Amino acid sequence: MTATSSHAFQPVLERIAEEMERTPGRGRPADYIPALAACDPRRFGMAVAELDGTVHGVGDWRVPFSTQSLTKVFTLALDLAREGDELWEHVGREPSGNPFNSLVQLEYENGIPRNPFINAGALVVTDRLHTRTGDAAGELRAFLRAESGNPGLDFDEDVAASESLHGDRNAALAHFMASYGNIDNAVPVLLDQYFRQCSLTASCADLALATGFLARHGVRADGTRLLTRSQAKQVNAVMLTCGTYDAAGEFAYRVGLPGKSGVGGGIIAVVPGRCTLCVWSPGLDERGNSVAGVAALDRFTTLTGLSVF
Ligand code: GLU
Repeated sequence: MTATSSHAFQPVLERIAEEMERTPGRGRPADYIPALAACDPRRFGMAVAELDGTVHGVGDWRVPFSTQSLTKVFTLALDLAREGDELWEHVGREPSGNPFNSLVQLEYENGIPRNPFINAGALVVTDRLHTRTGDAAGELRAFLRAESGNPGLDFDEDVAASESLHGDRNAALAHFMASYGNIDNAVPVLLDQYFRQCSLTASCADLALATGFLARHGVRADGTRLLTRSQAKQVNAVMLTCGTYDAAGEFAYRVGLPGKSGVGGGIIAVVPGRCTLCVWSPGLDERGNSVAGVAALDRFTTLTGLSVF
């Protein structure tokens, strides 16, 4: 690893933002709900949080956006912290190689989803967290507020309602897994929790800070432990292998960090023991990853030499 002192992050971010400004072809925002379709694909923000909570940022790094699947990392961590290894009897940890909302593998694998970051797996995790807490989405919001230090971080009820209106595929996944006994709660209750979860709105600064526990090997911002060191490693490993839809191999190749993307155009990434990143740009490629987001993280690891390899 090249040594990059903390004060060197800001010029790196500024250089990346300038490069992104000059890059044509930013992809297209997700269009399955109006709130996401309306986003300007040229928006760009990026933040780096150091282990002590110092944050550096550039562009739209303080602008709240729709976190969507980024929340799958936090629900996974919150549930793993509560139930430990039993979770892995209900969801796998292998890349799926299929789109995030795919149904096909579920039938061959007896209703056990391939990993916690495709929709089927995330539904199982949220279901289990809901059983354990009585309010999975509320638990997630409380965690993100605490870790980011932003008490205003909240759900976007319009996005949640829109997700629900266009939620047939997620409903199908949940019912299908319920038929195998892999869902505890009533499907409408689970879907309500999941759509609220996806609707959480936060900025790059909030999310870089909230991801910090994964760079601190499981330790939260206040110094208490959420995950064991080994569990933090597990979450980072699943992010690396499964965190960017069916393009996780390409992401690992280009960026070399555990990362998780969402269809809102955000990507969070972890440099274990060093820092966390969040980048946001709403234009997506055909696999659902932010075009400028992946490019910016690619440039970050190239310019700083920071990666897990
Ligand atoms: N709300 C989206 C869904 O479940 C999230 C998808 C994503 O960000 O990958 O369909």
